[in-house]
Amino acid sequence: MNLFILKLGGSVLTDKDKEFSLRERLLRDLAGELSSLEEKFVLVHGGGSFGHPLASKYDISSGFREERQLVGFSKTREAMEKLNFRVVKALNDAGIPAISIQTSAFTVVEDGKIISMNIEILQKLLEIGIIPVLYGDSVVDIEKGMSILSGDQLLAEIAKKLDVSEVILGVDTDGVYTRDPKENEDAELIPKITPESWENIKNLIEFPTESDVTGGMKNKVEVLVNLAREGIESRVINATKGGNITKCRRRNKKVGTKISRE
Ligand code: ADP
Repeated sequence: MNLFILKLGGSVLTDKDKEFSLRERLLRDLAGELSSLEEKFVLVHGGGSFGHPLASKYDISSGFREERQLVGFSKTREAMEKLNFRVVKALNDAGIPAISIQTSAFTVVEDGKIISMNIEILQKLLEIGIIPVLYGDSVVDIEKGMSILSGDQLLAEIAKKLDVSEVILGVDTDGVYTRDPKENEDAELIPKITPESWENIKNLIEFPTESDVTGGMKNKVEVLVNLAREGIESRVINATKGGNITKCRRRNKKVGTKISRE
């Protein structure tokens, strides 16, 4: 199967500075672009200004410690379901047979890490031509009671279990830079990262202390470098720019940062 995984970050789908702000037009355009691709894909999305503020307010990722977190857990889930509903609806409206899959209903998490996942559900859906849409979420954790499973961790697990041709990680910058390009005009785009080059450059690249509950850009690259070690190629691209996903899939234009074994 010529299958790829697309992650749309919260920085793409939402305005992170304004709670519950969905970028509706961009989402519609992305859905339109995806509907013109022939390959099947799994879509994973982040939480942005829907899930993150609540997850951090109630400190869900530290695990269950006090009763006030319970309502935080359910509110985080409610916010993520709202965002997920809008994403799935946009895809359906563009003619893509997409359905929502609730992450924690088929995944077991221990101390923040996935220890098992019923991948058969996704395989079967894809086989018949349905596009599964998953999201980073507040999940039940058998060790800590509750935790946050990031969209990035989720995509890594799915990529390893399914036979994927590529992982596309969409953010709101043109790829991985030497410094945060939003804060530094002289930041330079890194066109390619390998596990070997990563060892040399990871301490030279500046990743500002992220307030994000799921670890920010450095964590994303770590996840993708680990996939590259297993032979799974990925690209970090700017998904707010129309046409970039198509360029990735056609492999005829260089876009973003490529992360591969060699
Ligand atoms: P998402 O929520 O979309 O998954 P994040 O907001 O966690 O993504 O990470 C993307 C952000 O990381 C970008 O908006 C960018 O400002 C920031 N960032 C920090 N350091 C870098 C870097 N070295 N290269 C690219 N982006 C960076």
